[in-house]
Amino acid sequence: MNPRYILKENVFKKISKGQKIALFLDFDGTLVPIRKEPSRCVLAEKMKEQLESLTGSESCYLSILSGRSLSDIRGMVCIRDICYSGNHGLIISGNNMTYIHPKALIAKPFIDRAVRMLNKEIAGIEGAWIEGKKLTASLHFRSVRKNDVPLVKKAFYNVVSEFSGDRTLAVIKGKQVLELAPDASWNKGSAALWILNNLKGKYLPVYVGDDWTDETAFRALNKRGITIRVGKSAKTAANYYLKSQREISAFLKRVEEFIC
Ligand SMILES: [Mg+2]
Repeated sequence: MNPRYILKENVFKKISKGQKIALFLDFDGTLVPIRKEPSRCVLAEKMKEQLESLTGSESCYLSILSGRSLSDIRGMVCIRDICYSGNHGLIISGNNMTYIHPKALIAKPFIDRAVRMLNKEIAGIEGAWIEGKKLTASLHFRSVRKNDVPLVKKAFYNVVSEFSGDRTLAVIKGKQVLELAPDASWNKGSAALWILNNLKGKYLPVYVGDDWTDETAFRALNKRGITIRVGKSAKTAANYYLKSQREISAFLKRVEEFIC
């Protein structure tokens, strides 16, 4: 089904006033534009103010779900009383929620070993680098020359194949990034459902994200709530879309108006 443009439709019109919202937001590519170096991302002051005003409302429970580590995403957003989820949902913390996937702890030494191996494999490839994120690790190749990209991928899958017998590691594909994660059958969708089920009272889930990792959440939530992909795509499971990251602010304003 083709997603519809959310800013053109008044989705909140059909929802009865007083309905509580569980708002799930991705970070990179959703709240901030994607940067070559993830550490250089800065949450705009205006966006931060919008998020703060949402958290101040009893009618909105805000969660930020990211592929970043928990401490990284917390540091980037820097708002108290928000539920944060790092490593694509493997860890959840804040605003009365605490969770860590048991397989994440088991896989950690394997991921550490794979990172050491990968570092050796990609040593000669310009622009490729590994970001250790505690429970997962990302191999970035956004700055790698086009001709070298197959080399990077080959190096990555060579290392992954070394661990195939253990069944401890899984691969997550993102935008010009390959990620090593625990083989846990757990994703952003599972994390969003876990949070939703642990909230007291009835909440309408609203999820906004831009990447393939967010599709797990779109699939988990699109029949129960409002799912929005940043960037139009016919392949998405989301039922709505925003044209670009720049429109997120306009959408959050609509949420704000609804819960006020
Ligand atoms: Mg994203």
